[in-house]
This record gives sequence, C-alpha cells and structure tokens, in this order.
Amino acid sequence: MKSQDAVKVTFYGVRGSTPCNGRDVERYGGNTSCVALDIPECDPIVFDLGTGLRYFGMDQPNDGTFRGHALLTHLHWDHTQGLPFFTPVLHSGAEFDLYGPPQDDGRSIRDVLLATIRPPLFPIELTMFPGTMRFHDVSDTDFTIGDVSVKARLIPHVGPTCGYRVTWNDTSIAYLSDHQMPYDGSMAASPGALELIDGCDLVVHDSQYLASEFAAKSTWGHCTAEYALWLAAEAGAKRLALFHHDPTRCDDAVDYIANSVVRKGERLGVEVFAASEGLTIEV
Ligand SMILES: [Zn+2]
Ligand SMILES: [Zn+2]
Repeated sequence: MKSQDAVKVTFYGVRGSTPCNGRDVERYGGNTSCVALDIPECDPIVFDLGTGLRYFGMDQPNDGTFRGHALLTHLHWDHTQGLPFFTPVLHSGAEFDLYGPPQDDGRSIRDVLLATIRPPLFPIELTMFPGTMRFHDVSDTDFTIGDVSVKARLIPHVGPTCGYRVTWNDTSIAYLSDHQMPYDGSMAASPGALELIDGCDLVVHDSQYLASEFAAKSTWGHCTAEYALWLAAEAGAKRLALFHHDPTRCDDAVDYIANSVVRKGERLGVEVFAASEGLTIEV
C-alpha cells in the first residue's frame, strides 16, 4: 500500500491500569491508553483518553481550529484521565466528538464525565472548557465519521465496555484495549469480539497478564498475550499489537512476552509486535 493511501496509527499511551515511570519502563512507555488514527482527508480519530492523550494534544492545533473524534472504550481512569489535560479543547472554536457506552443504570458518558471532572476531584468543571465537546452514547452501534465506518460492539470487561472496528478504503483496524477472557482460562470469544476483528489488517488488543498470573486475577477484566494471539488467529487478523501492558511489567518482561508470542504468531500467520509509546505504523 502506498503511504498516501495508508492509515497512520500512532501509539501515544500503551500502559494498562495506571501510568508508570522509570528507567525500567522507558522503552515501552508509561502513559495509559491512547492510540491515534491519521486517515487521509479525515479529522483525527483517537481510541481512548488515557494520559497519552496529553501528548496527542501537543501534536494538534492549539488555536481553536482542532476538529477530532474519540472512540472511548469505557470510563475507567486509565482511559479517561487525559481528557482534562487535552489542551486543544482549551481554545474556543475547537470541536471534539466523544463516543462511548452508557452505564447500566442509564447514565450517559456525558453524565459520568461531568460528575467526575469537577471540584473537588478537578479544579474546574468540564463545562468550563472553552472548546465544544459533543457526547454520543454507543453500544452495539454502527455509525460513520466522514468516509470512515465505525462498528462498536460491547465486549466482556468490568462494566459496560466497547471494542471498535474502524474501516476506511478496505483498511480495517480493531481496538479491544480491555477484554475479559473466559474465567477458566479457556479460549473462546463473544460474537461481537470476533466480528470486530474478523479479517482486519491490525488488531490492538489487551495483553495484560502472563498465563501464570491469570489464575489469581481471572475476574479483573483482562487476558493473556496468548489469548490475544489465539483470538487474532481465530478471527483472521493480519497483525496484532500487544497492548495495555501491566504497570508492573518492565521493558525486558514485555520483550519476553512479545518474543514468545511473535514466534507462535509466525506459525499461525499473524504478525505480532508489542506496542510502544511513540511508535507510528502504516496500515
Ligand atoms: Zn484499562
Ligand atoms: Zn478497564
């Protein structure tokens, strides 16, 4: 694919659960979930609003001309903490559309973010930001952003959580940042998860745990790298980005996990790599 026809995917935050810092995590990075899509003739689309969003914001217009869209998987802190520090919306004229799943009690993503981004948890209310933020509730929903088709599907995690599939010009990218594998450690997936990943060019997927850790954390909403590979192969994905690295995982440990899955992926026809902060790839 020629580069002008490609989607550029940039990883601004790849860490799960909580940001971390230190020499032992500097290669993969410590910011939490935020992945940006640069699609020709389309406003930027970001997956999730983790602390990596602040750095995405530095690469965007900070003069009121920003236009963009965020596909929010769920409202856990590691996926929302970057929003109050996203400087493009500090300028009047900026427009930011946010999509995500409502709560089981009926509260919308707007209700929850307005209730939490306010004193005493944050110095000002979200409504005081000068830019325009529009909120859209999605669950098992198909919609479009310009020429881009978006599929949201509810997937197992802890609380209402979406995965997404973005398709432009026959290129499809799936994003399932937090995904509960079966509690008994077996390999099975929901129809929605399989639909999102089906034959996609790239899937960015939860890979939080080692198999040896999963038994003690089997209900915490995540999965192993081996599960991510099984699912990618089962659904026919071409490439798999291991994502949502555990905050306790040092760089060498991420390498160790990735190396073992890369070799298994070669046998299954899936190209595997571990996502790192600052990495841009073309799809
Ligand atoms: Zn998370
Ligand atoms: Zn989560």
